[in-house]
Amino acid sequence: MDLTLAEIFAAQRTISGKVTRTPLLPSRHLSEVAGLPFFLKMETMQPTGAFKLRGAMNAAQKVPEGTHTLTCCSTGNHGRSVAFAARKLGIKSVICMSSLVPQAKIDGIKALGAGIRIVGTSQDDALAECQTLAREEGVSEISPFDDPLVIAGQGTIGLEILEDLPNVKTLLVPLSGGGLAAGVALAAKSINPAIRVIGLTMDRGAAMYASLNAGRPVDITEVESLADSLGGGIGLNNQRSFALCKKFLDDVILVSEEEIYQAMQMLYFEEAQVAEGASVVGIAACIAGKLPDLTGPIATIVTGRNVDMRAFTNVITGKDIILGDYRLKGAAYVS
Ligand SMILES: *Cc1c(COP(=O)(O)O)cnc(C)c1O
Repeated sequence: MDLTLAEIFAAQRTISGKVTRTPLLPSRHLSEVAGLPFFLKMETMQPTGAFKLRGAMNAAQKVPEGTHTLTCCSTGNHGRSVAFAARKLGIKSVICMSSLVPQAKIDGIKALGAGIRIVGTSQDDALAECQTLAREEGVSEISPFDDPLVIAGQGTIGLEILEDLPNVKTLLVPLSGGGLAAGVALAAKSINPAIRVIGLTMDRGAAMYASLNAGRPVDITEVESLADSLGGGIGLNNQRSFALCKKFLDDVILVSEEEIYQAMQMLYFEEAQVAEGASVVGIAACIAGKLPDLTGPIATIVTGRNVDMRAFTNVITGKDIILGDYRLKGAAYVS
């Protein structure tokens, strides 16, 4: 399947009424910081707490006849969305994850009635397990980012932003496997090629960043991060998302754990929004002054809210955070 704007419009029709049409909220505080109108696309409001429902729902509607079980590998949010979509279709799901996935995310998936497999210490280990499962008759795998139907589903976010803010100039998109960035950039640039699309990711274990620099998909070592949903490789055999990110992303910017921490605090205290670390990398880059020559209006996608609320409370109250062998020095928020 060749991925074009037409497939993204088709996805929009397919998932209409099955996912939430999320609001684009103006942020007074971030508009002041950036000196340009700044908007937040609130994917935290999806029923599964993250945008991944769009791609999962689009792909789940198109699985082969006779499919009785959906499977996937996941850092948590895709699995929850596949489990949700399977339940909606009245079929089973088995979600494969590594031991790096936070318990709060696993609990959310279990609550939807999905089977759970925890294997290994990386997304690659989880992928191997789900590909073994998918060899069985009637089991269909849905990739978290490297599937045209998933990319088209995520691309509907781009269509909605352009419906609400036709003169948007810059899109700040959290980046991991690149399904989101690929879909959103394809949608936005097909409608207006002048829109800049910037990928944002953490500076520890960013697979797409390393791969774009190397000119081919490369392996990285996964480490614990506040942006746990951005962990994982892009697959050495990546078919789609790498090429699309290479073609469409104008830049990729890295943010530190400390910057992510501050951005979570900022979104909470200034906008009263709860979001997980992966969602705030666009905001983090903006407040850290890492985005020179921005043109506005700017929109960032606040991609998800699936964070352990005890861990979130520690961030909000300025506590130190232990991430594997890294100690993030906390500090109370100052406006
Ligand atoms: C998956 C995810 C991302 C990154 O999406 P990719 O398509 O893998 O690049 C960003 N934020 C959250 C909350 C996610 O769950």
